[in-house]
Amino acid sequence: MRQASDPPEVAHKPALRAIPPGLHFISTPIGAARDITLRALDVLAGAVVLVAEDTRTLRHLMEIHGVPLNGRPLIAYHDHSGNGLLQRLLALIEDGKTLAYASEAGTPLISDPGFELARAVAAAGLPMTAAPGPCAAICALTLSGLPSDRFLFAGFPPAAQGARRSFLADLAPVQATLILYESPKRLRAFLADLALTLGGTRQVVICRELTKRFEEVSRGTADELVAQFATREVKGEIVVLIDRAPVAQATEASIDAALDAALATMSVKDAATFVSQTLGIPRKIAYQAALDRSKG
Ligand code: SAM
Repeated sequence: MRQASDPPEVAHKPALRAIPPGLHFISTPIGAARDITLRALDVLAGAVVLVAEDTRTLRHLMEIHGVPLNGRPLIAYHDHSGNGLLQRLLALIEDGKTLAYASEAGTPLISDPGFELARAVAAAGLPMTAAPGPCAAICALTLSGLPSDRFLFAGFPPAAQGARRSFLADLAPVQATLILYESPKRLRAFLADLALTLGGTRQVVICRELTKRFEEVSRGTADELVAQFATREVKGEIVVLIDRAPVAQATEASIDAALDAALATMSVKDAATFVSQTLGIPRKIAYQAALDRSKG
């Protein structure tokens, strides 16, 4: 473990340009400390007030990169810190101060605090920017080998079995790569529910300990991963990615059935759009069929 008195791993030489006033979200490493960006370090070096979900983690990161605190305030803040502190931060920004905000790891707001702050700053019309960087979901998508043209990040699944199954059932038809965060102690139960709800043949990728020493990517069907993880002790941080549902070959009967169900609650136009998207058929065909069926 590094000591605070150890020399920095790399002493950061801040850019000469001053950091503009306002709120600066910064992304921080999800494992490898050197994944911090130079711009994030510039912001940390130049901000007048530092705000962090976890002040110890940010202090440690600054020590590693040779960014001195120099007596600047380092304030702990998360989405439940209360309105008093939120108003204090807004007042500082309004006063023209430069604030840096970092969550514990990765990108703020991504299953991390920062949303309430961003919403309040946006509503107040105050200046705000972000120095982008590490994010476990995006890192995992890059490595997964699954389609990246369309993806849906769904955060952490519920811990209770019933809620988790209905959460998965909602995601089952989504035509996008699904990205979830999961705790290692719930991974087995999660995979079992995944196989049950989405089917054992769905392609799944598990990314563990990204950017760290024991980084590992496991790929297979839901059934294969259930078997693979059944006997292993699972440790570390995990991202689960799920391939999109295979598009079933639409038949005249399945189009009619889908349209009848949709027309029960939707207009002809909306039913046609919905069915064309869910069954992957041209909208013109869905619209004509919806029109015919609506006339009885
Ligand atoms: N804000 C972070 C981000 O941008 O990815 C996520 C914070 S969330 C509280 C923490 C979860 O992210 C972990 O439980 C895990 O699911 C995922 N995660 C974070 N670091 C990871 C890593 N190095 N490898 C795999 N998953 C990681």
